[in-house]
Amino acid sequence: MELRDLPSVDELARDCDDPLAVDAARTVLDRAREEIRAGAEPGDLEARLRDELAAARAPSLRRVLNATGVVVHTNLGRAPLAEEALTHIVEVARGYSNLEYSLGEGTRGSRQDHLARVLRRLTGAESALVVNNNAGAMLLALAALAEGREVVVSRGELIEIGDGFRIPDVLARSGARLVEVGTTNRTRAADYERAIGPETALLLRVHQSNFRLVGFTEQARLAELAEVARRHDLPLLDDLGSGSLVEQPGEPTARESLDAGADLVCFSGDKLLGGPQAGIVVGRADLVERLRRHPLQRALRIDKLSLAALEATLLLYLDAPERIPALRMLRQDAATVRARAERLAAATGGEVEETTGRVGGGALPLAELPSFACAVEESLAAPLRAGDPPVVGVVRDGRLLLDCLTLTDAEAEEAAAAVRACR
Ligand SMILES: *Cc1c(COP(=O)(O)O)cnc(C)c1O
Repeated sequence: MELRDLPSVDELARDCDDPLAVDAARTVLDRAREEIRAGAEPGDLEARLRDELAAARAPSLRRVLNATGVVVHTNLGRAPLAEEALTHIVEVARGYSNLEYSLGEGTRGSRQDHLARVLRRLTGAESALVVNNNAGAMLLALAALAEGREVVVSRGELIEIGDGFRIPDVLARSGARLVEVGTTNRTRAADYERAIGPETALLLRVHQSNFRLVGFTEQARLAELAEVARRHDLPLLDDLGSGSLVEQPGEPTARESLDAGADLVCFSGDKLLGGPQAGIVVGRADLVERLRRHPLQRALRIDKLSLAALEATLLLYLDAPERIPALRMLRQDAATVRARAERLAAATGGEVEETTGRVGGGALPLAELPSFACAVEESLAAPLRAGDPPVVGVVRDGRLLLDCLTLTDAEAEEAAAAVRACR
């Protein structure tokens, strides 16, 4: 076909009774023109118009099979939700709810009331507040407690989390002034103490999340910082990043942080916790109250769908944490993962390969989770991503690894069917 043989947009769209047809025809013709210039044959334009119209109506945000072996994969939606969380979302969102209504009093209530009790129980905190995400929680805490004043933080903790989210920038946006202490690799409690002056509003500790310092290093223990803070009557804010509500080797729990003397602790809902995107702040009631009254609180508030999912997830922590998918994945034994990889390999003609899974989400960057993958040919990577459901694996050494740590048994079967469909 030559460029001059192509129909016009109107000609191609004419027989198609569809309000999206003109836009779709333009897209199809643009692509056909490029192909002809590149020496390729654009093929059946009407069939391509039908495909384009179908694609225009398909949702862009889709379910994906995570075969990367990274449990809390930020690009793939972080934590999958527990059944209980999904059911609670549907139940609460299908109709009306008591989101901000006190059923006891028959008057206006607060959306914060729904989670305060379970968070107090799980962390031992006096009080709790939940916002849209942990970056928001940080921003709110710094704005409410330190606007126009100084925040003391170690040079070893001025981190970038990912996608350009940097602690010093958040500090600046909150209106607080950063006072850096110590050096990249060593900061002592005395460094904090020396930096405290009349302008100091709080001491900040930031969990290093996605990196670790090794070698000649020193960090003040949280309990030592708490002592310094207490001596100067300043609050100590601990940004745990991922945060955990259950013992997780190497990752501090919110309760441990409070017990060590942090006045406020903030952490994410959708990292190790295994719930929806949310930022959780727990700690001293008077400080939480200052956050609650700050105007940014309204701008950063959590929506009802996330609130429903978070409440159901937190309730599972009371007696059935193993029902939370992220925790289950982290705790499954290697033999189970290997058996899954073997079934996938048998169904696809692939090979079982030993791999190392990761926690992800900036938690435990050095933790290596023993895992197994099914290795198939690298050329399947793109067609599997384009499939339904899309499958995302890892290309390594000329092969595509489908890691079975992050697939359920049912998903591994879907992945097998997807591989067969691509060949
Ligand atoms: C991930 C992280 C954040 C941001 O949390 P989001 O829930 O992604 O907004 C903030 N601080 C630390 C230390 C983190 O690891």
